[in-house]
Amino acid sequence: IHMPNIRNFSIIAHIDHGKSTLADRLIQHTGMVGEREFRDQLLDTMDIERERGITIKSNTITLPYKAKDGEQYALNLIDTPGHVDFSYEVSRALASCEGVLLVVDASQGVQAQTLANLYLAMEHDLAIIPVINKIDLPSADVNMVKEQIDQELGLDPELAILCSAKEGIGIEAVLDAIVAQIPPPQGDRGRPLSALIFDAYYDPYRGVIVSFRVFDGVLKAGDLVRFMFHNAVYKVEEVGLFRLQRQPSPELAAGMVGYLIAGIKTVADTRVGDTITLDANPAAAPLPGFKEVKPVVFSSLYPVASDDYQSLAEALEKYKLNDAALVYTKDSSAALGQGFRCGFLGLLHLDIVQERLEREYNQSLIMTTPSVRYKFQLTDGSEAAIDNPQFYPDPVRIQKAFEPFIRAALIIPERYMGAVMKLCLERRGVNSTFSYPSPGRIEITIELPLAEVVFDFYDRLKTVTQGYGSFDYELIDYRESDLVKLDILVNSEKVDALSTIVFKDKAREWGVRICDRLKEEIPRQQFKIAIQGAVGGKIISRSTISAFRKDVTAKCYGGDITRKRKLLEKQKKGKKRMKMVGNIMIPQSAFVAVLRSE
Ligand code: GDP
Ligand code: MG
Repeated sequence: IHMPNIRNFSIIAHIDHGKSTLADRLIQHTGMVGEREFRDQLLDTMDIERERGITIKSNTITLPYKAKDGEQYALNLIDTPGHVDFSYEVSRALASCEGVLLVVDASQGVQAQTLANLYLAMEHDLAIIPVINKIDLPSADVNMVKEQIDQELGLDPELAILCSAKEGIGIEAVLDAIVAQIPPPQGDRGRPLSALIFDAYYDPYRGVIVSFRVFDGVLKAGDLVRFMFHNAVYKVEEVGLFRLQRQPSPELAAGMVGYLIAGIKTVADTRVGDTITLDANPAAAPLPGFKEVKPVVFSSLYPVASDDYQSLAEALEKYKLNDAALVYTKDSSAALGQGFRCGFLGLLHLDIVQERLEREYNQSLIMTTPSVRYKFQLTDGSEAAIDNPQFYPDPVRIQKAFEPFIRAALIIPERYMGAVMKLCLERRGVNSTFSYPSPGRIEITIELPLAEVVFDFYDRLKTVTQGYGSFDYELIDYRESDLVKLDILVNSEKVDALSTIVFKDKAREWGVRICDRLKEEIPRQQFKIAIQGAVGGKIISRSTISAFRKDVTAKCYGGDITRKRKLLEKQKKGKKRMKMVGNIMIPQSAFVAVLRSE
C-alpha cells in the first residue's frame, strides 16, 4: 500500500456518544467480519470495559476499503481510551493520525469531552469530520446539533455526516468522507526510520506488542531498533498489521501503522510517546511531544489475609507487565501488615487496577483512602513530596504546605447553574469564568484542588445536573494550602491505614463523615466499639457501635436448614473479607467506604 492510499484516523467523542459502536460498524462494513461473527463492540475487549462501556486500552485496526474511485485503501483506525485519566495516551494516538471523526450524539449535543477532544485534534492540526450519531432516536435533534457544531465547534455543519451506528445508517458516507477529507500521510521512506509508539500491551506468548506509526523510513523484521528516550536496543522479530488478528508483514514503511514484536519483557520497557529508530542509521532527533506520565493518585494495597502478601506481590508483578502507568513500592502498616503503595493516573485507573487484581488474579484486597501528592517546605529548608499519610511530616517542622490544583471545564444546562456552583464552592473552587456557547447552556471554567475532585466530584456533578453535566480537567500547578493529618482511632487504637491528609477547615467534616461511615461498615461485635477522629491528638469526631446480642442464625427457628446454612456461609464469606485490627474485625469495605458518595 502506497502513501496516497493510506488514511490514519481516530474516532473521538464524549463518553456514550457511540464511538465504539461506530468503530464496530466500520469494521463490519469493510468486510472484516461477517454478520455471524459480529459481536457488539469488538474493540472493547476487556470485561471491565464492556461492563463500564468505556475503552481503557486502545485497539488499532487496519481496514481494507475499496472506495468509489475504484482504488483500494488502507484505513488505519486508531482507537483511543475514553477517559481523562488516559489523556496522554490519547494525545499520542492523535499525533499518529491525519484526521478524526468527531462523533456527537444527536440527542445530547456537544458536551465537555466533545470540546476537549476537538481542542486536542486542533492542536495536532487534524482534519475533523463531524458525525452526528444516533439519528434513529426519537429525541434526536439534528438541527440543534448542527447549530452547535457551527456555533460551538466552529465547524461547517453542512459537512456533518448523519449516522446511526446502531442501525447501520450513514456508514458508507463516513468511509467515503475518511477517504475524501482526511489527507494521506506525508513522509519519506528514504529517510532514517522514525516511528511513534502510541500503545503497548503484553501478550503472554510473544511478550510486548508495540503499536506505532511510521513517519519516515522503513522497518523490517530482523532490524536492530533503538527506543530513543528509553535508550534500549532490540532485535525486531516480527512486524505487521493489525487486522482482527495480527498479520505479519515483511515491512512497514512511512505513513503506515502497525505493530512490532522484539522480545520485550514488560510494557514498562516501552514508553508511549517514545521514538523508534534504527540502531545502525538513527534519526537525527526524536519525534516531538514525549512526556513521562506521572501518577497523581496514590493508595496502599494490602492483602486481606496477611499470608497472601507473596501472592499479591506476584500478582502485581504480572499485572505490571501490561500497565506501564501503575507504579508501586513496598509499604507496611501497623494495622494491615505488609503491602504496597501504588500510584495511579486517576481514580478510574485505580478502580481498574483493583478490579482486575481481584477478578483476574484472584486477590482479596484492602485499599486505603486515596491521596494526592502534597508538597511541603520544612523549617530546615528542605522539601518533601508526600502522598502517604504515614509519612506526614511532624507539624512543627512544616513551614508551608502545597496541594495540586486543576482547571476544570464544565458544560451544563443553564438551569443547573446554581446547584453546580454550590458544588464547586463546597469543593473550594476559585477563579470561575463563564461562557454561553449556545442558548440554554453554560460553560464554567474553574480551578479546584485535585483532592476535592478525585473522590466523588463527577458522581455529584451527574447527580445535581440529573445526568446532563459534563466535565473535563487538566492539572495546572501546586498552591499553598493549610493541611492537617486526620487520624482514626478504633477503641483508642490508631488505625494508621485509615489516616488521611485533609484541608484544615474540612477536617471536622471529614472526621464526622468517616466516623459515621465506619459505624455503618463495621459489624457489631461482642463488645462496644468507639470510633474517633483526631487531629494532632485532639478528638474532633466520634461514633459508637454497640455490642451485639443475637447470632445470625437465631432468626430462623428450627426447620429451615438450607436458610440457616446459607446464612452461615454468607457470614463465613463476609469474614474472609475482614481484617483483624487489634481485637476488632474491620471489613474490607470500611477502608473505601469513606470515599463513596452517599
Ligand atoms: P462510546 O462510549 O462513545 O464508545 O459509546 P458506545 O458505542 O459504547 O455507545 C453508547 C451507547 O449508545 C450504547 O448503549 C450503544 O448501543 C448506544 N448507541 C450507539 N450508537 C447508537 C445509535 O446510532 N443509535 C442509538 N439509538 N443508540 C446508539
Ligand atoms: Mg467505547
